[in-house]
Amino acid sequence: MKPAVTVLALSGGVGGAKLALGLSRRVSSGELAVLVNTGDDFTHLGLRVCPDLDTVLYTLGGVVHPAQGWGRADESFGFMDELRRQGGPDWFLLGDRDLVLHVERTRRLAEGERLTQIMSDLASRFGVASRVLPMSDAPISTLLETDAGALEFQHYFVRLRAVPIVQRLHYAGASQARPPDEVLDLLRSRSLEAVILCPSNPYLSIDPILAVPGLRVALRAARVPIIAVSPLIGGRAVKGPTSKIMQELGIEATSVSIARHYSGLIDGLLIDETDDTRETREALEAMGIRVGVTPTLMKTLDDRERVAQRALDLASELATVSTHTRSAG
Ligand code: GDP
Repeated sequence: MKPAVTVLALSGGVGGAKLALGLSRRVSSGELAVLVNTGDDFTHLGLRVCPDLDTVLYTLGGVVHPAQGWGRADESFGFMDELRRQGGPDWFLLGDRDLVLHVERTRRLAEGERLTQIMSDLASRFGVASRVLPMSDAPISTLLETDAGALEFQHYFVRLRAVPIVQRLHYAGASQARPPDEVLDLLRSRSLEAVILCPSNPYLSIDPILAVPGLRVALRAARVPIIAVSPLIGGRAVKGPTSKIMQELGIEATSVSIARHYSGLIDGLLIDETDDTRETREALEAMGIRVGVTPTLMKTLDDRERVAQRALDLASELATVSTHTRSAG
């Protein structure tokens, strides 16, 4: 029997996986579940590709490419070289080992297996004790309305390098989807102690997860502290288009905007020390959000563990406060 989950993390790809790795080392083995965005998934060359799920899997499995933060460290590109020679679409890089996962996933999905089951099996094969869960078994696609027209996520992000100006985002298919039973079960379980929103892109990685009907309500109904870690440091994203998209949507790239974005859902926000101003604290406190401060840049494994521990500590502080409030009331 697997141990009961005590911490649920919501994650996109590279940025989220950094914290997920830290969390996996700060909670007891098997007690972490990572709920991963599948809005970036797409069918390419006839194969079902799930970039964020695989990034989390490779990161927790210790095989991720350390400099890139995605793909595998030990990789070859024979398939890509030949695809290019044959005039095939070469804008999306698929390593030979990585390709095996897409082939296997596509085969198993065609045989009727659920994505949740397939990922659970892959996690065991990679020796990952944490649960790696898709936000839904039904396909959901993040679509962006941009100045270059409507774009599917990978076309915006990889082919066009996130250059187009974003006007609106949709999560196509979300209204017909539901969270996997495994996710609803762990949110109802009495063992759960905290939910952590990784510092993933709020619009491209976390919002698609929250768009799955029933999930937001189930997260609140779990009655455990929900903590977000801000993806911004000094008003800028560490990597990727988070602050660019915020600007394009007319939102100031600040911790306060991140708090506002998640308000009604989160109880605490962990911000970087460079963003710790009196105005920020006051604004967050006025929203009823407790502030945690730490250097949030995760370069080393120690950084990942330290930020993870700080997020868990903030959750424990909030759990204590709410117990006191309940007993006082
Ligand atoms: P993607 O799906 O691969 O784009 O990755 P995510 O959405 O999970 O993460 C992207 C976000 O992670 C960006 O907004 C980054 O600012 C944020 N990020 C990446 N590394 C760090 C870090 O070390 N610290 C913090 N606070 N945020 C980070």
